Amino acid sequence: MPASRRTLVIGVAGVTLGALAGCGTGHSAAGDASRPPSSAGASGAGGSGSFAGSAGAGEGGAATAGRRLPLQAGLSATPGGVGRAEIAARYGGLRPRAWALDLPGTITRLPAAGRTLALTFDACGGPGGNGYDRDLITTLRRYGVPATLFLNSRWIDANRPAFADLAADPLFEIGNHGTLHRPLSVSGRSAYGIPGTRDAGQVFDEVAGNHAKLTGLLGRPPRLFRPGTAYSDDVAVRIVGDLGETIVSFAVNGDGGATYTAAQVHASLLAAPPGSIVIGHMNHPRHGTGPGVAAALPRLLGAGFRFVHLPE
Ligand SMILES: [Zn+2]
Repeated sequence: MPASRRTLVIGVAGVTLGALAGCGTGHSAAGDASRPPSSAGASGAGGSGSFAGSAGAGEGGAATAGRRLPLQAGLSATPGGVGRAEIAARYGGLRPRAWALDLPGTITRLPAAGRTLALTFDACGGPGGNGYDRDLITTLRRYGVPATLFLNSRWIDANRPAFADLAADPLFEIGNHGTLHRPLSVSGRSAYGIPGTRDAGQVFDEVAGNHAKLTGLLGRPPRLFRPGTAYSDDVAVRIVGDLGETIVSFAVNGDGGATYTAAQVHASLLAAPPGSIVIGHMNHPRHGTGPGVAAALPRLLGAGFRFVHLPE
């Protein structure tokens, strides 16, 4: 890792939230998180029912290209050993009290340890969202910069060779970015026009479908979860915990849902306060994320920043 000691003047921390709709939806940054539950969730991106069917339904026709690793002995693909009916019974009667990107119980920043940053890149999957920013990954490898890659089930199905390559590289941790990329709600709340899950059972489906896929492919369960659009309610945060995963939030929006120019991505990263978790996207290879990251990394490394994996 380059270790030049050139000092970099970091400007006022530009912490920007919102604008996370660039998960292959084509929506603008205008969120609709205030829309009442009654107006949302009428037609989810795949409906309800068992996760097993939707989790295995690939869109890219490349589902057989990947290499499936054997499960470790005694390892169950059922998250946390908890089933759908049990989750529905535990949480079916609870009403959510909060809806946000950074609720208590989520990982929002790094432990205080100097000039550290953690990069996270989402691959949201689905129509318009199954691209692969190979150059971004090449840049991370060139500088030895680790990252957590939050992969949606549909993206994995469309990119099996790339998935196998990424999963085999210890520079990257693979996180769960959901089965159908739905905001994680127990009341059908939506974000950026994307209908959220409608009840505790659908929260289970959204988490458990891709959990099972990743457990089978990786040979171990994923520990980190990022909801589609990054929104969740407080009940969903607890459900994710019961399923053995923890939701990862962020402090710096690195690419505005893959809408930023390279210059905007560059500026956003250079303004990141130490200890920040940065969100970006790895599924839009012709957008500004890759070039912006490539421009920012040498400057941040030269300024003494260290890039780290997310804490246990
Ligand atoms: Zn996403």
